[in-house]
Amino acid sequence: MKPPRFDYLAPRSLDEALGILAEHGDEAKVLAGGQSLVPLLNFRLVRPTYLVDLNEIAGLDGIRVENGRLAIGAMTRQRAVETSALVREHCPLLTEAMPQIGHVQIRNRGTIGGSLAHADPASELPAVVAVLDGELVLQSARGRRVLKAKQFFLGYLTTAAAPDELLVEARVPTMPPRTGSAFVEFSRRHGDFAIVGIAATVTVDEAGVCTGCAIALTGVGGTPVVAREAAGALVGVTPTADAFEDVGRRVSDAIEPEGDLHASSDYRKHLAGVLTRRALARAAERAVEEPRR
Ligand SMILES: Cc1cc2nc3c(=O)[nH]c(=O)nc-3n(C[C@H](O)[C@H](O)[C@H](O)COP(=O)(O)OP(=O)(O)OC[C@H]3O[C@@H](n4cnc5c(N)ncnc54)[C@H](O)[C@@H]3O)c2cc1C
Repeated sequence: MKPPRFDYLAPRSLDEALGILAEHGDEAKVLAGGQSLVPLLNFRLVRPTYLVDLNEIAGLDGIRVENGRLAIGAMTRQRAVETSALVREHCPLLTEAMPQIGHVQIRNRGTIGGSLAHADPASELPAVVAVLDGELVLQSARGRRVLKAKQFFLGYLTTAAAPDELLVEARVPTMPPRTGSAFVEFSRRHGDFAIVGIAATVTVDEAGVCTGCAIALTGVGGTPVVAREAAGALVGVTPTADAFEDVGRRVSDAIEPEGDLHASSDYRKHLAGVLTRRALARAAERAVEEPRR
């Protein structure tokens, strides 16, 4: 298929892009890595009047650590995050999640901002930002605002970003001491979107008792699903196989995923329990092994 006709605009600055969106936001789509948008155009599932290419704008990419947070510019390529030493040091969960996104060719072009703005509930990045209680920075000609993940992801392919707003940055807290993390998923073929994925963090004290746990799931709802109550069951106990089993059961009981062509609802619930167990075991092991800073 060929895309429908559109006017192609390539602003050279953020201000220019925001000006275009202020005028034409409702009829425009912004182009980042194109890995999701171009197929949507070619299938004519979206028909923008204007395509606003962000690739000529300097300064929308980059990775830095500031005030205890890892900040990643929206146009940072997924592959750059995957190979960043800074990300590996401060947010190893991201480093582990990245190679599970499609194939390397896709990650060479695909951006952090594109994946988060696309808001596919099967995607890895929204779950990582959600489990870490991260923030999304939105900018328009009207100004800037910062949303928590739970305020940003509203539903299937739907975010709180207004038509005139650009996602300019994602921020996650740097990893606290004695914290381990894991991203575990199951897909039928390498490179496919996962049927279910789990992002988990476990923090332990000096005695090895769990003082914090967070779990987010992909593929079981319209947004990344944070299993707050189930994760809370690990806090105050020594992480053991029995404890992971218990939390896995709680996660499985707490979700009501829809069945589809790829997996029934029951199968997704089962997978969520099994993968939670595995992710927690791996995260807890890392928390003990790597008492950071
Ligand atoms: C074969 C294949 C397999 C894939 N497998 C996976 C997978 O396993 N996991 C996964 O997560 N993804 C997967 N993807 C999708 C891929 O990760 C995309 O890179 C990502 O979803 C979109 O990023 P992008 O930069 O290409 O954005 P684009 O495709 O350019 O844009 C996507 C959407 O976001 C909007 N947008 C982009 N940037 C911004 C911004 N800064 N502010 C506001 N809106 C913006 C666009 O207007 C568009 O609506 C796969 C893609 C392919 C083709």
